[in-house]
Amino acid sequence: MSKAAVVHEFSAPLSIEDRPVPAPAEGQVLVRMEASGVCHTDIHAAHGDWPVKPTLPLVPGHEGVGRVQALGAGVHGDVGEGDRVAIPWLGYACGECRYCNDGRETLCEHQLNSGYSRDGAYAEYATAFARQVVKVPDGVDSLAAAPLTCAGVTTYKAVKVSGARPSMLAAVFGVGGLGHMAVQYAQIAGCTVVGVDIHQDKLDFASRLGAAHTINAAEQDPVEEIKKLGGADVAVVTAVSASAFEQAYASMARGGTLVFVGLPAENFVKLPIFETVLNGITIKGSIVGTHHDLEEVFQLHASGRTSVLYETRRLEEVNEAFREVEDGSAGTARLVFEF
Ligand code: NAD
Ligand code: ZN
Ligand code: ZN
Repeated sequence: MSKAAVVHEFSAPLSIEDRPVPAPAEGQVLVRMEASGVCHTDIHAAHGDWPVKPTLPLVPGHEGVGRVQALGAGVHGDVGEGDRVAIPWLGYACGECRYCNDGRETLCEHQLNSGYSRDGAYAEYATAFARQVVKVPDGVDSLAAAPLTCAGVTTYKAVKVSGARPSMLAAVFGVGGLGHMAVQYAQIAGCTVVGVDIHQDKLDFASRLGAAHTINAAEQDPVEEIKKLGGADVAVVTAVSASAFEQAYASMARGGTLVFVGLPAENFVKLPIFETVLNGITIKGSIVGTHHDLEEVFQLHASGRTSVLYETRRLEEVNEAFREVEDGSAGTARLVFEF
C-alpha cells in the first residue's frame, strides 16, 4: 500500500489514506518518494483558489524526489530503475506542439500538472512520465532537491527572463519558498538584491542569503524605500497578495522588468497605462521552468552556489503544515515531507 494525502473537498482538511501502489502506465515510471516539498500552489489547489480548478479527489505535490522502482511499457530512455529523480509541476508535455518544439514546453497546451491534473507527490509512491522526471545528481540530497524542483526552478527561470544583469537592483517581493531562492539567483546574475516580506524572520533569511537590503512591508512602504535605492531594474513577485504586485510595479526604475510569479487567489491588479508606456516598463508572466532549467538548478546547487532553507515534517502533519505556510509561522522558508 501507499500512504497518501488526499483532497476530497476544497477547503476541507486533507485526509491521510492507504491506497494501492499505482502501476506505471506506458511511458511512466513508479517512484518511491523520499522527500516532497510543500509549495503554496498545493494550498491553492486544495482550496480551489484558481480560475481552473483541479478534479477531486486529488493527491497534491509537485516537488517530489525519490527512486525509480519500476518502469512502465516503452520506457527505455535515460531513466532506469534505482535512479533518483524529481517529479516537477510539468507532469506531461506533448513533445510535438509549437511550444514543445521551440523550448517552451511549459506552455504546452496539452500539458498535465503533477498534483493538479494528475496525482502528485504527497504519497509514498507516485507515477510520473519518464520524459518529465529529472535526474537528481549525487551532490544534491533529496530533502534539498525537493524545494529546488519547483521553488528553485521557478525563480531561476523568472530571474533569467527578467534579463537581470550585474549592477542592477533586483527586488524580490515575498521571501518564502520561492523568494528565498530568487534572492540567490538574482545575486548569481550579478544583481544587488532587496528582499520584501511582511514577516521579519523571512527578511532575516534574505539577509543571511546575501540580500543587501530588506524591507518589512508590514512596517514600511516598500515603494518609497526601493525608490530611495534608485528603483528596481528587475522585480520578481512571489508574494501571495495582489497588493504586492502593485507595490512592485510602483517601485520599478525606468526601463525595468517586472516578473509575475505568485498566483494569489485575488486574480487582478490595477496598473496605469500612461506610466507603463512613458517609463518603458516590461511586465512578464513566468511559469515554472523546463526540464533543462531544472538540470541547471541542480548543477548550481551541487557546485555549492545555492542554499535551501527547509524543515522536515511528516506527511500526517499535512494540514498543520498548510496552516504554518499560510500564517507564516513555519519558521523556515520551505517545509518538506520526509518519507
Ligand atoms: P510561500 O508562502 O512560501 O511564500 C510567500 C511569501 O510571500 C511569504 O514569505 C509571505 O510572508 C510573503 N508575503 C505575503 N504577503 C506579502 C506582501 N503583501 N508583501 C510581501 N510579501 C508578502 O509561497 P511559495 O511556495 O513561495 O509560493 C508563492 C506563490 O507563487 C504562490 O501563489 C504559488 O502558487 C506561486 N507559484 C508560482 C509558480 C510559477 O511557476 N509561476 C510556481 C510555484 C509557485
Ligand atoms: Zn510549486
Ligand atoms: Zn506540447
